[in-house]
Amino acid sequence: MLRIKDLRFRYRAGGDFVLNGISMELKCGEVNILLGKNGSGKTTLFKNILGLCRPSAGSIEFEGRDLLSLSRRERAGLIAYVPQEIRFGDLSVFDTVLTGRVSRFGFRAGPSDYEAVERILSDMKLEAFSGRNVNELSGGERQKTAVARALAQEPRFLIFDEPAGNLDIANSALITDEARRLASEKGIGVLCSLHDLNMAYIFGDRFFFIKDGELKYSGGRELFAEKTIKDVFETDVRIINHMGETIILGGRKNEL
Ligand code: ADP
Repeated sequence: MLRIKDLRFRYRAGGDFVLNGISMELKCGEVNILLGKNGSGKTTLFKNILGLCRPSAGSIEFEGRDLLSLSRRERAGLIAYVPQEIRFGDLSVFDTVLTGRVSRFGFRAGPSDYEAVERILSDMKLEAFSGRNVNELSGGERQKTAVARALAQEPRFLIFDEPAGNLDIANSALITDEARRLASEKGIGVLCSLHDLNMAYIFGDRFFFIKDGELKYSGGRELFAEKTIKDVFETDVRIINHMGETIILGGRKNEL
């Protein structure tokens, strides 16, 4: 369980709090989805969990350990991150994914590290790109490589910042299916920010809606109500049931 308690954070002393008293409990084995408008504080929350920003107040614990007291390497053994803006070194896809294992192997990769990378490249359908320079790939291929690198860390908890941003529907399904499999089969915790409400509804187990740095709603699929979404996103949506499927229609009031 990743437990965040009364988290407050501001970028500048004396400035406004960007995260203002956030408390969340994220269970391993579940897909947790973070939803909120642009600028509501989602990426800032991730940076606090990852130790890239230091909270002004509050605590973050993973399985009873204070995350803030861990070294970068210890934390990398527990939590992996797929950022929205991905930066890579001048390496092949294979070597890029292998760098995800540095916190495991230290100075020298061994046969088990190479095998792990091959398995992940195959799962992510990236074998054909293995020898290609990662900076000569399409946006979607780069994003899949970033996910593969995070998986190579064999983390206990995975954080995705908008994983579907650059991906077509087949590749975003590949990533959400993989995240779901890791959660249910390996008991890994997943926290993911998504803009697509329909994708969030299908993919998530638990949902956390944040607004202006505060957690406004948390719970299961029952949260997907027109009033709740209007409150968080300040726009009208319609939620319809079509042949047993829930569909969220945004900004298209006159349709259907
Ligand atoms: P989201 O990921 O939900 O779009 P962010 O966490 O990126 O939101 O941003 C939350 C707020 O913090 C925004 O008002 C943004 O302008 C501000 N912010 C983000 N990064 C910085 C920074 N490095 N310095 C100062 N303010 C920042």
